[in-house]
Amino acid sequence: MNIKTLPQKVLLEGGKIYNPVSNKLEKGNLFIVNGKIASEDKSQTFDAQAIDCKGKIVTHGFCDIHVHFREPGREDKETLETGALAALAGGFTRVCVMPNTNPPLDTPESIRFIIEKGESVPVHIHPIGAITRQQAGKDITEMGLMKNEGAVAFSDDGLPVQDGSVMRRALEYGSMFDIPIINHAEDKCMREDGVMNEGPMSTRLGLSGNPTIAESSMVHRDLALGEMTGGRVHVPHVSTAQAADHIKEMKKTNNKVTAEVAPHHIYFNEAAIEHFDTNLKVAPPIRSEFDRKALIEAVKKGVFDCIATDHAPHTIEEKEASFDLAAFGMIGLESCFGAVNKVLVKENGLALSTLIQMLTINPRRIMGFESDLFQTGIQAEIVVLDPDEEWLFSKTNIHSRSKNSPFINETLIGRPVITISKNKIINNE
Ligand SMILES: [Zn+2]
Repeated sequence: MNIKTLPQKVLLEGGKIYNPVSNKLEKGNLFIVNGKIASEDKSQTFDAQAIDCKGKIVTHGFCDIHVHFREPGREDKETLETGALAALAGGFTRVCVMPNTNPPLDTPESIRFIIEKGESVPVHIHPIGAITRQQAGKDITEMGLMKNEGAVAFSDDGLPVQDGSVMRRALEYGSMFDIPIINHAEDKCMREDGVMNEGPMSTRLGLSGNPTIAESSMVHRDLALGEMTGGRVHVPHVSTAQAADHIKEMKKTNNKVTAEVAPHHIYFNEAAIEHFDTNLKVAPPIRSEFDRKALIEAVKKGVFDCIATDHAPHTIEEKEASFDLAAFGMIGLESCFGAVNKVLVKENGLALSTLIQMLTINPRRIMGFESDLFQTGIQAEIVVLDPDEEWLFSKTNIHSRSKNSPFINETLIGRPVITISKNKIINNE
């Protein structure tokens, strides 16, 4: 990967431009002047640096509303800077960072810290504030003040909001600001010490199981609370057929509900854990083939608004432990497009346009970001995709500070080849 300042005039030439707002795919060029989208004018473009995009798709930079960049506190795993490089390698130009840092992002000052620090890195970074102080699940944070500093949503992610009355108050409070509340839905009492999906496979491997109902029952509760309070429930990393069903039902009557699915839950099933690869240990867990297929069907039916990676870096030490003791989580930014394009588009017939919308306008709309990125004068956030390239994902493709990816040695299909963000251009070839 090489990263350079964008030349003053750039012409992305000969590719197909996909506009996720109008849902149109057309042959054409994209002209960028001083890092901003410009209208193509022959008297202007003649001295521009041309970039050949033949056979490629030029579209909006991806947006991931669920990443863990570990700053402050665990800079040995990831920083805003190294996380930004991972994002760019994956075609992402905008990310929302979760607040389970050390200390957690639970005050207006901590939100300001991320906003200020994020200004100097080459992707747009938005902090998500904690729902409760210290993420302890009890006292609601000062959401209004945190929103004023730049918090775009609230979540105790990593930890579930176990207490329903706390979730109720968070949704009531959040509804005053029309801001998404994101609960890591796993009932702690039912999850217990489960480290993988509960079923015949967990019994065979001798690992403690985490039942699907630990997720689906809490999702059901949150959706009901959303309906009751008028708050905005966004359901993260849905892993079960049942939770997807609950979301599908609630969406029929409540248009405030949104949901995301993660690449690993539609790419892997629990059989992959047979070799005890701790990079597959994640919360919620990799589920059965039944759930994986149901999630893919749910994507095709429009149940999920967006793809989000839940990029969760961990050190080698934390992942080299036994499966029982290893940390939960995997990185996911660099492998995202190749994985979801392979499973959803190539293997299951989803329209590529729908997938691109799930990576661009849909997540931006959930968070209230500008979603019409081809307007003249907008700072360019662009990705150039080769949708058909088959490639072997390897450690050299990882730019995160941590390498905990189960996608290493997987053949992926489709690749972000160029990313343009904040006046920088990144070439992945
Ligand atoms: Zn989570």
